[in-house]
Amino acid sequence: MAKRTKGQDLVEKLTWSAPNIGKEAPKQTSKANKFCEGYKQFLNEAKTERECVTAIVYRLSKAGYRPYDKHAVYQPGDKVYYVNRKKSVIATTFGEEPMEEGLRLNGAHIDSPRLDLKPNPLYEKDDMALFKTHYYGGIRKYQWTAIPLAIHGVVVKKNGEIVNVVIGEDERDPVFCVTDLLPHLAAKQNERKLGDGIRGEELNVVIGSLPYQDEEIKEPVKLLALQMLYEKYGMTEADFYRAEIEIVPAFKAVDVGLDRSMVGAYGQDDRVCAYTALMAEIEMENPAHTTVTIFADKEEIGSEGNTGLNSDFVLHYVEDLAEQAGADIRTVLRNSLCLSSDVNAAYDPTFADVFEPKNASYINRGCVLTKYTGARGKSGSNDASAETMAKVIAMMDAEGVYWQAGELGAVDAGGGGTIAKFVSHMDVDTVDLGVPVLSMHSPFELTAKLDVFNTYKAFKAFYK
Ligand code: MN
Ligand code: MN
Repeated sequence: MAKRTKGQDLVEKLTWSAPNIGKEAPKQTSKANKFCEGYKQFLNEAKTERECVTAIVYRLSKAGYRPYDKHAVYQPGDKVYYVNRKKSVIATTFGEEPMEEGLRLNGAHIDSPRLDLKPNPLYEKDDMALFKTHYYGGIRKYQWTAIPLAIHGVVVKKNGEIVNVVIGEDERDPVFCVTDLLPHLAAKQNERKLGDGIRGEELNVVIGSLPYQDEEIKEPVKLLALQMLYEKYGMTEADFYRAEIEIVPAFKAVDVGLDRSMVGAYGQDDRVCAYTALMAEIEMENPAHTTVTIFADKEEIGSEGNTGLNSDFVLHYVEDLAEQAGADIRTVLRNSLCLSSDVNAAYDPTFADVFEPKNASYINRGCVLTKYTGARGKSGSNDASAETMAKVIAMMDAEGVYWQAGELGAVDAGGGGTIAKFVSHMDVDTVDLGVPVLSMHSPFELTAKLDVFNTYKAFKAFYK
């Protein structure tokens, strides 16, 4: 081998860039592939926040977690969970250190962009039965037409009975869809700007086309649809007012690429962080600091409502923990550290101009540490301190985690936010960390398995 030059030594000493894991640590590929089999299974089980809660609680219970009891006495190593209104969960493993040394919080979200049914959704028009929808979160509306869709949700009947509705997931189930124009007749629609290509009131879901057999009926196609819902779920039209029904893509999580290096699926923002955080939480046997792993709802609409992180439910939980341990709550919060675990936009070579390449995250370079999010001049951002960045980087380096740093796109290209600012409002040091995603918020999001695996490793390093 040729002798290295002084300059080459200096480059190694002074410069830094995140390596491609596939090149630097090819042995991780098989571990990442194996880890992502469980991840895909989780995605297929859990396409709504409620289904995520069920899937998470199932895994926690199997791992020995018990429902949190405010009046119990807990020892280091004990594992508990707390469910907030069936739509968010917190899991804890009690640590060896006194609680005033601080908690390790890790917050991911389990809601994803989708189409919600309107409160009065069902109608008949020109011999077809359809559902009116109201989109939830940031979607590009044109992406939701002409793809198979499934119906997921709950109905609270008049007698209080709660019925789970899922149609379109079993192979024998029918699916649903939003129609779009054929190119032959789209001349006028083609003149619309892309953002206006499909409008909110055009996101109508086709649910039936045959009439109920009775000449005396005014809306027989709607009636047949109602009759079928009644037969299957015992529900009537009035029950839609007591329901939460979500329309999501009907397809399953799959491998993408000849090399199967990526996962393609709906809802990876932010179930990819939820799953990796869950696995790290479950595997933590005796952490130094007490863990608080949060699976939150409502992030995609600004963390609003009492199941979102712009409410006090996490604070109340931490208050209970502190009181139980006889710890001063303010000291606990001030000494705590939080990862706001959410996805970031992966650099897309096809749309390179919205990224600033030196500060974008790339697939296969590991989890992405995001110092700040926000829009324009960091508006709405948490903006982690240098000290917080240093702490988290040191934890990852100590465990050989592949990580990179990235902004959400180029300056002034747009922007976005996460739960980070709501946690930091509680006087907790917080920084964003997660998985780079391509086609974020689309019905079919793309992640790299090596990044998913290294995010899981980062969460384990954080709890250690
Ligand atoms: Mn997210
Ligand atoms: Mn999002």
